[in-house]
Parts: sequence; structure tokens; C-alpha cells
Amino acid sequence: MKGRVRIVVKSDYEAGTDKGARLYAEHFESPVVELIAATARATERLIENAEILRITEGWRPSIRPQGRDLHEKLKAVDFTILKTGGIRATQGEYALVSEYVRATVGDKNYDFQVHGTGLNLHIHAEYDPK
Ligand SMILES: [Zn+2]
Repeated sequence: MKGRVRIVVKSDYEAGTDKGARLYAEHFESPVVELIAATARATERLIENAEILRITEGWRPSIRPQGRDLHEKLKAVDFTILKTGGIRATQGEYALVSEYVRATVGDKNYDFQVHGTGLNLHIHAEYDPK
């Protein structure tokens, strides 16, 4: 569908056994599913030639033992955006999408950040009720 963004999930086949995104039922319950839908809509609206919104991470063990890590609590997902020809979105495009989603879903219970560099550049989105 032209102008629409396909949502795909990083699989074990491409990433290596057990390295695909781990999604569980909680990821498809509101409000996390709202994050996914809002990010897809923002990507369609803002990123020219965007084709794929890829969920690269769902659950994983905490990498911040001292701090909060909402991946572990099934309340965070990571995304990458691919444009026509497999071209990755730029840092500026990720920032645009993050700011737009933050403004549209609008409430203080959601957080969006652009994380990483190079091939690891991604949007981290989480539901974090305050
Ligand atoms: Zn993350």
C-alpha cells in the first residue's frame, strides 16, 4: 500500500537464534500497542519514502541493573525505520518522529528517545506512568 508503513518484527532468522525481538502478549495491550500505532502513523506522515517500521527489541533483560529498564517490564519497544531501497532513516528523521509522537500521544506517561549511533540508531519508546 503506497504511502503506508509496514510494521515488521526483527526475527531470529535474520538476527541469529534467540536474537530477534521478543514480544509477548503485554506488548499488544494498550498502552504499548498505542506506542507502536502512533510511531507508525508518525513515520508515514513525516518520513518521505518510509516503507518499514521495524520492531527491533521488545523484552530483554535489564542492561541497567541500578536503574529503571522498562524493556524488562514489557513496557518498552525499540524501532528502526527503513526507506525505499533499504536506506536507514537519519538521526534527524528519528528525532522528528520521536518529537511528533511525543506531541501527539501527548501525555507524560510516554517517553520517546533517539538512542544509539550508526547501525544501532533507533527510537526507544516506553510507557512509564508517573
Ligand atoms: Zn529501548
